[in-house]
Amino acid sequence: METRDILKKNGFVFKKQYGQNFLTDTNLLTAIAEDAGVEKTSSALEIGAGAGALTRELSARAKKVIAFEIDRSLKPVLAETLAGCENTEVIFRDFMKCDLSTLEEELGPYHVAANLPYYITTPVLMRFVEEAKLCKSITVMVQEEVASRFVAKAGTADYGAVTAAIALRGEARITRKVPRTMFFPRPNVDSAVVHIAIEEGRIAVKSGHAYREVVRAAFSSRRKTLENNLMSAFRLPRERARELLLSAGIEAGVRGETLSPEKFAQIADALVADGILQ
Ligand code: SAM
Repeated sequence: METRDILKKNGFVFKKQYGQNFLTDTNLLTAIAEDAGVEKTSSALEIGAGAGALTRELSARAKKVIAFEIDRSLKPVLAETLAGCENTEVIFRDFMKCDLSTLEEELGPYHVAANLPYYITTPVLMRFVEEAKLCKSITVMVQEEVASRFVAKAGTADYGAVTAAIALRGEARITRKVPRTMFFPRPNVDSAVVHIAIEEGRIAVKSGHAYREVVRAAFSSRRKTLENNLMSAFRLPRERARELLLSAGIEAGVRGETLSPEKFAQIADALVADGILQ
């Protein structure tokens, strides 16, 4: 039976507030699972199982699948669409409220694959970028303009705190563009799939925490210079802020959005050496 018919039979009502735009095209779902590099030797984690279309693809490729779904009314639907997927568990909970380290103990090394609900795209991605320890890659369908921000290069209008935070863990690239016509109900925007392969130690930095603090400070006010943003975030005298930037080969007067992730790492290391950050 078609997914649409199973939803109808179970009296399912789409809830806009949960970003419920489902996929059904088998070729596209296969392609997303392939983009995610899901393999039999590791697990897969999905955020937002929906009617289970991507979950099934993951189940066929992974050792084990854990899928989160906030909407309990999808329980009877998923019982049908995931029948026979013995390696798959659906947790009916808000993913943002789960404890990631406990979940990682259960998963072991894992790949994230999801058609993310649009209203929590960035917070979900940031959880993995900042907290994940066993995550091997992240493959997410997001709105096209959000995808452009995730993959932006330094010095472009789309480059921001999220881009720089992602860059510490891996290189983000768009694997495919997906027109709005592929979803039902149809959203008002097109989407894209972003893949981030996690490469530990990709950018040498003493402390990931310090790096993130520097990035946060650099983008805290886009109108201010980097020097001014660092001064107010870390209570530095102007001379010290200027010295710090010069030692990293950065001219006074530049703005955060022009800096490469490597430069943020240099500033973070200098602040750690000064004992200002840990
Ligand atoms: N994976 C399915 C697909 O591709 O057809 C559904 C994707 S749909 C864009 C997003 C799904 O995430 C919805 O089923 C929605 O109910 C669920 N969702 C929304 N917020 C969530 C949250 N905080 N935690 C877990 N699931 C959530």
